[in-house]
Amino acid sequence: SGLKKHFPLRGGFLGGVTGYVYAVDGVSFHINRGETLSLVGESGCGKSTVGKAILKLFDITDGQVVLDGRRIDNLPAGALRPMRRRVQVVFQDPFSSLNPRMRVRDILAEPIRNFGLARSRAELEERIAALMDKVRLPRDAVNRWPHEFSGGQRQRIGIARALAAEPELIICDEAVSALDVSVKAQIINLLQDLQQELGLALLFISHDLAIVEHMTHRVAVMYLGKIVEVAPKRQLFAAPRHPYTEALLSAVPVPMPGAQRERIILKGDVPSPINPPKGCRFHTRCPYAFDRCRAEEPPLRQTEAGHWAACHLHDLPAEQNPLAGAKGA
Ligand code: SF4
Ligand code: MG
Repeated sequence: SGLKKHFPLRGGFLGGVTGYVYAVDGVSFHINRGETLSLVGESGCGKSTVGKAILKLFDITDGQVVLDGRRIDNLPAGALRPMRRRVQVVFQDPFSSLNPRMRVRDILAEPIRNFGLARSRAELEERIAALMDKVRLPRDAVNRWPHEFSGGQRQRIGIARALAAEPELIICDEAVSALDVSVKAQIINLLQDLQQELGLALLFISHDLAIVEHMTHRVAVMYLGKIVEVAPKRQLFAAPRHPYTEALLSAVPVPMPGAQRERIILKGDVPSPINPPKGCRFHTRCPYAFDRCRAEEPPLRQTEAGHWAACHLHDLPAEQNPLAGAKGA
């Protein structure tokens, strides 16, 4: 809620703070138990920083992170452990996120031991075997080293390690981005099955809307440190209410021949998060920008049930609003 993370920039003669990277600048959303929320946007928009803030990998600048009604962003180090068990992460790179000097057994045993989830050697072995079953790897593979596995298999080990802690929320930060297309699909299917089986909540961070389409319940779109649109998946894909989402969607292939959306090519690059544009942060690239956009920041507002967008177009009469009404697929 109201999450901000500003990284100080240091420089000059005295090494003092000369400015800030406004990486995350006032982001609010919720994830329900058992739900997948996808956080999408181009690289550098702040989505990974949001994930890291939830994991408390650093102190946040402002706002709150609340788990089950309890604030967790300001917990003292000693009180962090139960929270760390409940919120786990799967990283993008299955090659660097597994310790090459540990066998799979030890990689999986570590969280089980750390969180006191096994009372005996036998129970530990049982849990490890069950985790291998869950991610559909052969049980005897626990004796092997990470380098003996393919990228997809390593990501299965990464998922098993996350599951070992019995979390309620898993943050998947570009968890399938480094994998080949067919392997991607397998890992997405696995995550979906596990979610249903275990009632997990997933925060699925991705730059790729095409991947998100197959696995998410809701989507939040980020641009330059802010959420510009949040909606249930079908609504977002059928009728985006923010020009940035519309442009991102125009690049997603449509499976029906002849149904391809017209590709919207945005002008320019994403501006620097050190000096974000005034008013609407998207105005320098928005095909619909008008005067008000340069002066006034649009708040996230509900355009229909559960669908939120931060865009001044929705203040205009419907006939002047290119993003009003039914659209798309
Ligand atoms: Fe574009 Fe203006 Fe809407 Fe921003 S507020 S997305 S600049 S139309
Ligand atoms: Mg990232």
